[in-house]
Amino acid sequence: MRASESMLQRGCWVTVWGCLAAVATATPPAEVIVDGVDQAIYTHLHQDLLYPYMGDNRGFGPEHDLARDNIFNEFSTMPHLAVELDPFQYNGNTYHNVLATQTGTDFPDDIYVVGAHFDSVNNPGADDNGTGTALVMEVARVLSQHRSSRTIIYAAFDREEQGLRGSAAFVADHTNDNIIAAFTADMIGHDSGPYAMNIYGSSLSTAYINGISDAISTYGQGLAPFLAGSASFSDHWSFESHGIPAFVVIERCFQCNPHYHTPNDAVDNPFFPDGDYLDYSMPSNLARAFVGLMVDEIGISLWHDNDDDADVDKADFAILQRCFGADPTGGCVAFDENRDGVIDVHDYDNYLDAYTGPGDEG
Ligand SMILES: [Zn+2]
Repeated sequence: MRASESMLQRGCWVTVWGCLAAVATATPPAEVIVDGVDQAIYTHLHQDLLYPYMGDNRGFGPEHDLARDNIFNEFSTMPHLAVELDPFQYNGNTYHNVLATQTGTDFPDDIYVVGAHFDSVNNPGADDNGTGTALVMEVARVLSQHRSSRTIIYAAFDREEQGLRGSAAFVADHTNDNIIAAFTADMIGHDSGPYAMNIYGSSLSTAYINGISDAISTYGQGLAPFLAGSASFSDHWSFESHGIPAFVVIERCFQCNPHYHTPNDAVDNPFFPDGDYLDYSMPSNLARAFVGLMVDEIGISLWHDNDDDADVDKADFAILQRCFGADPTGGCVAFDENRDGVIDVHDYDNYLDAYTGPGDEG
């Protein structure tokens, strides 16, 4: 849908390689972008940055601030993100949500949130909610490499366990902003039986609930969606209770996990001597579904892939030539990767880095 729209706006550009609109195929880039999700990297983000081992404490213990700062630093390594520690007050103390903003290239005032709480109940919180936090980082890692037409805020919320405090503060801070929807995850890594995910949300959020359900079926590699109805026990509720569509995804039978909110909610849970307390394929496949939903929903394409055919090739170079020196609007926006407002040699260098092969030179 998006590709054909932009193709119409762009018209048919005649170049030495022919008419681009005519030769470009209609392959959506979703699969290409979804395949960027990497279970090994997800596992690294979870295990090495979030202190999810026996004895760790991301509640009010020393690992809370260490994990928060790791999340901040990890977001800061990703391209195109503006990262901040966003303060709020709770119980007389200052805490921080970690926010990373990817500004939309076409509709920057339209904001989507991808979020999860990183705090725990004074335990390692490997499942609750290291797994959701790592999903947000992995989705950010993948999508920040591409061009988003609309703004995405990747959010690691604090103090969920004390009553959704961080997400509530975030919503209160953004009452004048156009938040379209919020997609959240909370406890997504312990496989209690069915290889499936519950999707919670009210009728307000039906379109997005159906969207993530379809995306899990399409991109989840065997993961099954289950529509679980409305719920008020996770951060999505801070949005829904203020009229903003939102959902939370939670493992199908989280009540079957006797270890959450205990000291054994840990990667090295002693009741799982084989080390399989968490099944990392579950959150990785859910991350694929989140990415797929975002690509299908909000208009995300490969940088430099101006004809949206999922290849960066000579056809795109022709557009780069046409756009060279131009104001990066309209059909040229995909090339201003360094966001300096002009298409120049730096963008040409970036194009060369992105080049995927000769492709559709027609
Ligand atoms: Zn939780």
